[in-house]
Amino acid sequence: MSDTSSQLSTALVHHPYKPPPGFEAVPPAIHRASTVIFPSVAALRTRDWKHKTGYTYGLHGTPTTFLLEERIATLEGGQFCTLVPSGLAAVVLVGMALLRTGDELLIPDNAYGPNKAFATGELAAWGITHRLYDPMNPADLASKLSAKTRLVWLEAPGSITLEFPDLPALVSAVKAHSNVHPLGIVTALDNTWGAGIAFNAFTLGADMSAHALTKYPSGGADVLMGSVVTQNEALHHLLHFCHMRLGYGVAGNDAELVLRGLNSMALRYAAQDTATRAVARWMQDQPQVAAVLHPALPGSPGHEAFKRDCTAAACLFSVVFKPEFTQIQVDHFCDSLKLFKLGYSWAGPMSLCAPYDIPALRTTKWPHKGGLVRFSVGLEALQDLQADLAQALSKMS
Ligand SMILES: *Cc1c(COP(=O)(O)O)cnc(C)c1O
Repeated sequence: MSDTSSQLSTALVHHPYKPPPGFEAVPPAIHRASTVIFPSVAALRTRDWKHKTGYTYGLHGTPTTFLLEERIATLEGGQFCTLVPSGLAAVVLVGMALLRTGDELLIPDNAYGPNKAFATGELAAWGITHRLYDPMNPADLASKLSAKTRLVWLEAPGSITLEFPDLPALVSAVKAHSNVHPLGIVTALDNTWGAGIAFNAFTLGADMSAHALTKYPSGGADVLMGSVVTQNEALHHLLHFCHMRLGYGVAGNDAELVLRGLNSMALRYAAQDTATRAVARWMQDQPQVAAVLHPALPGSPGHEAFKRDCTAAACLFSVVFKPEFTQIQVDHFCDSLKLFKLGYSWAGPMSLCAPYDIPALRTTKWPHKGGLVRFSVGLEALQDLQADLAQALSKMS
């Protein structure tokens, strides 16, 4: 390599560009880094990564991810936030930070499926047991608490079936339990549905809030991310150190997308809430339908707790078809939809649906016989969505 070209490659790396001084704009600057450069060995040796008072390595945070953490903590009414690469990673981080061999965790029977799968897979293999409880019956939760119980998951509402639990009653059952684990019992809420908007997880008694930022905070169906928020510094440090050891950092570009989504999140939440309630009420009147599950509908399980504790509802509802319709007919209905696409996730711009076999997913009694389809309402015009549902319903018989 000639001298000139070697100088060129050095000059390309050590280029003198600096961002214009005094530049201010509405969006925050986006920082991407693996390496963070220290001004001296002394700084390298002393800079503290444990309390986020300085930058040490991209995996441990950049100005962009610290900013997003602050905004998510603010959104949820908490104090400390840890970002992880997906909503499921948030669930996993809580388990990994808190649970040790010999511990037991309790999970609501209607919880997000992969939460249960982590318990039956990795946690069971590590000698950590779990039990499922009926979230609509605080006495059932109380009866399952023991001196081994270290973590109680809460979810409001249930992931597919949308029963809204009495969260304060569930938390009271945990707090009233006296034969406790030496390190205490932690309650963790999967707060993806409420998203920090429908209710305050901490006011209702949760110690930790896990959130799939993939859903509302992103809003674009284009990024996967999760967070865990607490108001408790000791719990935050458990999460934070575990996060460091696991290497669960998030990328600057992904953080950028979520920061962008946060600007419109409250408006999207409200618009999708209004549209979802309208579509859900319309579905109630269709002759093929046995029940519509949405906590704001009177008669839907947990409606009273929803009315007491929530100021809004997310964009999900589920439909149980009358038992005379076979699963083949229900599948045909889903296949006939044109605007509602078949797919997982929700809270994005496009309406989605997916059929579920509920008895295969739970241990508690399921009162319905017919097939269930869960819908997520996006940002399309309400009349178009209703017309799509109507044409697909007409193809069922
Ligand atoms: C989607 C979802 C998750 C997981 O989020 P991912 O980012 O897809 O891993 C967790 N809990 C609930 C309730 C969800 O809806």
